[in-house]
Amino acid sequence: MKVFKFGGASVNSADAIRNMAEIVRQNLHEPLVVVVSAMGKTTNLLEKLIPGIPASDDERQSLLKQTKKYHYDIATSLMDSDDPTFRKLENLFAQLDKATSQPATNYNYDYDQTVSFGELISTTLISGFLNSIGINSQWIDIRQVIRTNENYREGIVDFETTRWQAQKIINSTFNNLNLKLIITQGFIAGTGSGTTTTLGREGSDYSASILSYCLDADYMTIWKDVPGFLNADPKFFPNTIKINQIPYNEAIELAYYGASVIHPKTVKPIQNKGIRLHIKSFINPSAEGSTIGPYDGIEPLTPLYIFKNNQVLISIQPKDFSFIAEENLQNIFAVLAKLNIRVNLMQNSALSFSLCIDYNEILLHQLREALENDFRLVYNTGLQLITIRYYNQQIIDQIVAGRRILLQQRSRTTTQLLVEA
Ligand code: ASP
Ligand code: MG
Repeated sequence: MKVFKFGGASVNSADAIRNMAEIVRQNLHEPLVVVVSAMGKTTNLLEKLIPGIPASDDERQSLLKQTKKYHYDIATSLMDSDDPTFRKLENLFAQLDKATSQPATNYNYDYDQTVSFGELISTTLISGFLNSIGINSQWIDIRQVIRTNENYREGIVDFETTRWQAQKIINSTFNNLNLKLIITQGFIAGTGSGTTTTLGREGSDYSASILSYCLDADYMTIWKDVPGFLNADPKFFPNTIKINQIPYNEAIELAYYGASVIHPKTVKPIQNKGIRLHIKSFINPSAEGSTIGPYDGIEPLTPLYIFKNNQVLISIQPKDFSFIAEENLQNIFAVLAKLNIRVNLMQNSALSFSLCIDYNEILLHQLREALENDFRLVYNTGLQLITIRYYNQQIIDQIVAGRRILLQQRSRTTTQLLVEA
């Protein structure tokens, strides 16, 4: 058994879905679970439809229409108009209409009840298309399989229940229906009381990894629009190098520093079982790609770069000129944890504590409000955080290119530089 994950970009048009179907067709020698994201940028669109967000019902209707047209145009070019899939899609859009016309309640809860339709719709459409071209598949509602708590927008997975449900539902589907292919949703999950949750943006990688773990998959593959795990994001860097082999821990560190190729939570479950994770190109599916697995080091050994834009550096100084010591730090961290602010880099001196976070106006304001009684806050915005693993001075000089460095940290393998953009 193996698990494939197809992200939004791999299913964003009729041609993309035909291409995906071909990849699936060529991989049906053994049972295959296919995890699919919402098509293209659908999740972004659905985020605008959450109760309380549209400025008027007209705006809601118009966004709804736009979402529907995008999917129907694709479905119409893939299937005959009398295909039963259209009735299922009609039903899902009616449910979406209903869900988004409710009054706003709790934002995180409303978020999950709305954006989850992206994956329900994409998998319904794709599974219908596959069946229509003779690739027999069973659609499964993953909300009955992946169990989380009620931490809406970032459900915490209950692996025990999930493993039990996965083995029961997915294995019995393979055995009883005598088929080789299951199509299911990434990103979404369900609580014990049957409400819908999500696993956090870009969470479909994690879904595939949860299923790989629970079903003891032989391996997992993420199909992407890049040839594999590159040493830098090609959006920021002209000459990227593909890394063929990445140890599990290295992949975890890279995702932690912000490498966008893989969702940070993805690696732990498969590492736990020693399952290999392949990253391959859906544009060139026969090419080698990259593998995350039980290796000793990356191959080839080359510097790795991670860029994070739109960073802010905050310096926090106690107003009473006390030292930044345990007590002050404890108070600052309590506020950070309460506001759910992730610190990308931090440093302290006797009189000041500096931290670098993603710029977010609302959170910055709340942070200032929570701390300004006891501390003085100064900040610099518009910064770039560069992380380089396996660095040397020449590489640093090249990348910094004369810009002012506001903060730098070095360990044996990694340096992080906060520079003016
Ligand atoms: N559709 C979700 C998102 O865009 C999940 C995913 O694509 O992984 O965040
Ligand atoms: Mg993605």
